[in-house]
Amino acid sequence: MNLVLLGPPGAGKGTQAKKLLEEFGIPQISTGDILRDAVRRGTELGKKAGPLMAAGKLVPDDVVVSLAVERLRQRDCARGFALDGFPRTIPQAEALDAALRQEGKKLEAVISLQVPEETLVERISGRRSCPKDGSVYHVYQKPPRRPGHCDLCGSELVQREDDKPDRVRERLAVYAAQTAPLEAYYARQGLLRPVSGMGSPEGIYAEIKKTLGRS
Ligand code: AMP
Repeated sequence: MNLVLLGPPGAGKGTQAKKLLEEFGIPQISTGDILRDAVRRGTELGKKAGPLMAAGKLVPDDVVVSLAVERLRQRDCARGFALDGFPRTIPQAEALDAALRQEGKKLEAVISLQVPEETLVERISGRRSCPKDGSVYHVYQKPPRRPGHCDLCGSELVQREDDKPDRVRERLAVYAAQTAPLEAYYARQGLLRPVSGMGSPEGIYAEIKKTLGRS
């Protein structure tokens, strides 16, 4: 079950990757999460990536490719994975193809979540997350039990720097320019599976499983 979840910021890639992990045990590989962790820990990588991420720009291809390829080589990816937020450019997709080929693997499908832009902005601007355990909430759509605090550990929730309104516009523009061309790239390979990203997370997940022939 080697999957790519494709879609603009706020499309629901992370939510669906977590559902796939729960049911099928395949790890969610989020280059955004790996990078945010590096920023929190103040590593060299974090120092390099942090300002680009805060501005809503992409981190250079060679940096993210080596992170993702290293992660894909770990043992828990042997029976599958759900890539979330990678690849994001054509060179990244080509590097992924080459790395998988080297390991005798290939992608099964690319799930492309389709969500209109107004909905993306609404979802992202209400998104809050726990700086400690990474749990994600939404002020209206998935409010925590105690406003502003994580249900699991009680920490104060924060808004990601790049989820602030002016950065969101930048990220959507970057998506349109650099990532959207991946749809045609994967369509040519016969891998693209467009799925509506509107409605309940459960309904979207059911559609994904249907598309994969696993419902
Ligand atoms: P995400 O959590 O996927 O929205 O990623 C947050 C930020 O991390 C992005 O806006 C980029 O700055 C950076 N990032 C994550 N994945 C990639 C990638 N595949 N290529 C380049 N930059 C990335």
